Amino acid sequence: MKIDGKTRVCGLIGNPVEHTLSPVIHNHLAKIENRNLVYVPFLVEGDRVKEAIEGAYALNIYGLNVTVPYKSAVIPHLKEIDKLAGNIGAVNTLVRTENGYKGYNTDMPGLLRAMESENYTIRGESVILLGAGGAARAVAMLCMEQGAKEVFLLNRSMEKAIAVAKEVNGIYKEEKIVPMKLTDYRMLPERRYLAIQATSVGLYPNVEDVVLMEEEFYDKIAAAVDLIYNPYETRFMSMVKAHGGRAMNGLKMLLYQGIIAYELWNDVTVSQETAEKILIKMKEERK
Ligand code: NAP
Repeated sequence: MKIDGKTRVCGLIGNPVEHTLSPVIHNHLAKIENRNLVYVPFLVEGDRVKEAIEGAYALNIYGLNVTVPYKSAVIPHLKEIDKLAGNIGAVNTLVRTENGYKGYNTDMPGLLRAMESENYTIRGESVILLGAGGAARAVAMLCMEQGAKEVFLLNRSMEKAIAVAKEVNGIYKEEKIVPMKLTDYRMLPERRYLAIQATSVGLYPNVEDVVLMEEEFYDKIAAAVDLIYNPYETRFMSMVKAHGGRAMNGLKMLLYQGIIAYELWNDVTVSQETAEKILIKMKEERK
């Protein structure tokens, strides 16, 4: 890689950032496209988000990704925010504009592109959404945007499930999101569901954990997405498959959120062929 006076710098802010796969995505994209761009992770500690954003802008940083725990904390420091990101209440991509950064959320469009690439559809589906954290809240919005038939939001904490359902139903002026306790899955109407696993249960190193242990739950699932990608196949995915459903992990979501950010920064469209090459690199790196 040649770095010179014209090299554009992009990066990631978060804490921690040591294990991120984002540099793999962006530096390989830049290499394949022969673009003079370098992507680096920046560890931002404590309450230094404002300084980080102002400093990045002053240093002519071209674009930034934002990860845990700053996806909401960055919002007050932006010049502008995209409508979807504003509704989700979380920003993972900053695009440089004339007077500051504009914030976007590419996680949800990334999940959508990932699902489409595996021939999953949300439109018209009965969805079981597991979790009520930041990711689940955004998935609930995606289900609304995409016209899911109904969304049963199951969470350990009923209060959080109710809060997310109320908020998302309120934004879309529909009552499609139905909050439930995890253990109430037995009360679900008899259907074959699309399940989206958006809790952190089963994430490495707790690979034996699964959000619902009961085998009968998995008979209801025709297709599933687990947002987790480490391990590559979660126990949740294995249980879905063992009961005849199909399942995908969250690695392609990560890939496409990165690709969409790259497209926003560089005003280009990344081809399917290039996306597949990057996915191979990500698989190699995560070993
Ligand atoms: P979060 O805000 O911390 O939410 C965690 C969720 O997990 C909550 O619903 C929580 O339930 C539930 N949970 C945690 N421990 C549990 C347990 N022992 N039993 C039952 N439920 C439990 O996290 P998040 O930001 O939404 O992220 C959720 C997952 O999505 C993470 O694994 C993350 O890695 C993944 N993710 C992947 C991508 C990607 O690009 N593939 C992007 C974003 C997120 P309570 O409300 O009851 O506490």
